[in-house]
Amino acid sequence: MLDAAVSLAYVVAAGLFVLALKWLSAPATARHGVLAGEIGMFLAIIGTLLRTHVASYQWIVVGVVLGSAIGTPMGLFMPMTAVPQRTALSHAFGALAAALVGTGEYYLQAPRVGTFTMTALAVEVLLGSLTFTGSLMAFGKLQGLLPGRPITYRGQNVMNLSLLAAAVALAALVVARPGLTMLFPLIVALALVFGVLLVIPIGGADMPTVISLLNSYAGLSAAAMGFVLSNDLLIIAGALDGSSGFILSMIMCRAMNRSFSNVLFGAFGRVKEGPAAAAPEKPVRSATPEEAASILAAARSVIVVPGYGMAVAQAQHQVRELYDAITRRGVDVKFAIHPVAGRMPGHMNVLLAEADIPYDRLLGLEDANPALAEADVALVVGANDITNPAARHDRTSPIYGMPILDVDRAGVVMVIKRSMRPGFAGIENELYYLDKTLMLFGDAKAFVAEITKELAEGGRVPAPAARPEPAAARR
Ligand code: NDP
Repeated sequence: MLDAAVSLAYVVAAGLFVLALKWLSAPATARHGVLAGEIGMFLAIIGTLLRTHVASYQWIVVGVVLGSAIGTPMGLFMPMTAVPQRTALSHAFGALAAALVGTGEYYLQAPRVGTFTMTALAVEVLLGSLTFTGSLMAFGKLQGLLPGRPITYRGQNVMNLSLLAAAVALAALVVARPGLTMLFPLIVALALVFGVLLVIPIGGADMPTVISLLNSYAGLSAAAMGFVLSNDLLIIAGALDGSSGFILSMIMCRAMNRSFSNVLFGAFGRVKEGPAAAAPEKPVRSATPEEAASILAAARSVIVVPGYGMAVAQAQHQVRELYDAITRRGVDVKFAIHPVAGRMPGHMNVLLAEADIPYDRLLGLEDANPALAEADVALVVGANDITNPAARHDRTSPIYGMPILDVDRAGVVMVIKRSMRPGFAGIENELYYLDKTLMLFGDAKAFVAEITKELAEGGRVPAPAARPEPAAARR
């Protein structure tokens, strides 16, 4: 009876995990996806606790209390802008759990471990260990505790591959002869070091891909643990986690026009050294909230391009008010969302959903670029790298090849940011020096609120040089 209840809970949980992934893939259903995932995980935990394999609840309670004491404040108090680091930490904890369970199982069962179980154990411990240290490195880079740029040295790829080959060779030896217990700590140590060396040469704009790749490794490690513990749900959940993380990594690579091998071995995101990286003193044109309001009031179509700065300023509600104010004047307003805008996949979607911006106003990269070419005004709110035209033509730029939002093809470009400082990739943005670009210097929240206030007061006549040129005249 109990076994049947556990099996039922597992089947329902597995179904809910699949539905969660399906629903999470669209903004309109994402909230249902989160709820389905939560209910699925609750059922999975209850089902597992009811299994007859559980010898004692004492240490489980200790684990639950400790985990909740760490996880609850992390969930409640970490700001939205720190979610990538938080995600990296979660992967580190998950992978550590898998590596520890694998190590414990090995020493409990050795030397009488079957070849299949031993193979699964080796995969679990290798992936778990390297993901643990790799994710800690990613956390350090994103939190600013370690240099965010790639750390490289001569012979790095050879060194990394040799280390991985040594760890895999030793693991194969232990699979063949599980009694060689003294080799096991060496395998763990090599995998831990490999995790560090794998992530330090990656930096800059490649971090999102690495985070989702580490997510994938943590999932695969959990799936291997499912084979070791004969737990079907763990196999399913781990495989779903592993494959969805891998698919996300591929989507991120495509969004940046990169191959996997280039991300892992290319040290992309390295900041250009020398004079090109230094900020030259070039003139830019700036405008006041009043002038910006006038330009928006005179436009027929406006595309808002949100970026990391909108998240930092928490300006999404002010952006919503601005959207309402411009729309009331009969202007067509849309939002262009770049896949790597902000600091986590879907970052802008989450913020705009929080501010109740209608989903049908959001354009993905492919639809946004034709729309930008037709738009009178592109209003960039705290975005930088994702709008940098250098990605299209400057072969020496570290972001060369990354698809960008072509804001420079709109009639007038207005950029809200606080200074001329670069974005995440650490490079200058040539967009800011174009004749058609107006810099709106200030905090995104305050500046957007000022524009809305000006619009409410009527919007004055635009400065002649900044008046949007009709799209037809530009063709
Ligand atoms: P960027 O980091 O390129 O630029 C953000 C800009 O926002 C900065 O130039 C900054 O300029 C401005 N800003 C910061 N705070 C404020 C504020 N309070 N008010 C107004 N402006 C502000 O962000 P993008 O979104 O354009 O691009 C994302 C970058 O992050 C890409 O390089 C991407 O690869 C990378 N990345 C993405 C991840 C993801 O999963 N989405 C994860 C990790 C990295 P100033 O200081 O002058 O105000």
